[in-house]
Amino acid sequence: MKKARLTLLLAVCLAAFRLSAQTPANPLWHEQKVKNYLPHMTVPEVRELLTRTDMVIIPIAALEQHGLHLPIGTDYLNGVERAKLVAQKTDVLVAPVLLVGQSPYHMEFPGTISLSAETIVKVHLEAVQSLLQHGFKRFLILNAHGGNKAICTYLVDRINQETAGIAVELAEAVAPFRTPSTLPKGKEKVFDRHAGVSETSSSLYLIPNLVRMDQAETARLFMPKHMEAMVPEVLDGDPTANLVFLAEGLKAKQTGKKTSAAEMSTTGVWGIGDLKAASAERGRDEAERFVDAAVKFIEKWKSLRPKN
Ligand SMILES: [Zn+2]
Repeated sequence: MKKARLTLLLAVCLAAFRLSAQTPANPLWHEQKVKNYLPHMTVPEVRELLTRTDMVIIPIAALEQHGLHLPIGTDYLNGVERAKLVAQKTDVLVAPVLLVGQSPYHMEFPGTISLSAETIVKVHLEAVQSLLQHGFKRFLILNAHGGNKAICTYLVDRINQETAGIAVELAEAVAPFRTPSTLPKGKEKVFDRHAGVSETSSSLYLIPNLVRMDQAETARLFMPKHMEAMVPEVLDGDPTANLVFLAEGLKAKQTGKKTSAAEMSTTGVWGIGDLKAASAERGRDEAERFVDAAVKFIEKWKSLRPKN
């Protein structure tokens, strides 16, 4: 009995000593390990996931100005966070490849980094080839930045035409599964695109501590007259007005169209909505409806085409 007590005392002393001698963790490290998120996974965990799924979400991101209140990494961070939320509800790997996207029309704002469409497609195709080698086969391309839309369509086609992989654009895939928002709508529609109320709301939910609402400033916009005249029809959802408006709007300064972000906006925000109307609740509603629709699509794809 005495010996047992002594052993216990020794064990307690040793544990206390170890605790006091422990090196404190990096004070900047606050990330929690996230399931199915490739950068956090070990090789055995990737092997194990491969026994359950052959699907990968690849967010196609951007590092670009987002007004005075949102971080440069908004699109990268929000895209990755959405993908992680999907991967907690159904088995799919989340594999971010690049932080940077195509953003030449934001280049007058410091911090923006822009790559050519060719480079972005090439890098992602090579990444897909790596993942194919390990047994992943189906790729869900999650576009996190409007300016990457054509790149995503082209990347999906290149994967499908040139590799053993099978790819879809996630936005297109989830569209039939989306449910309408149940939140009360504002009375009138206002022009709200880049870094506006909608993107600020998403960020307030997905990356709250990086949003500087104290710095949020509603922009004054200077669109070319003929574009400004189209805005009411664009807001009404007229598809032709929308098509020709976006064909010309937000283009690099050197195109001479006078529609780069700095040429059209005092702050870099392309929208005139009151940023104070942004809310985490609206962001949560949008993110949850996206995640639910993505999970439904993935489950349906799994049943339509089981993993080999
Ligand atoms: Zn953005």
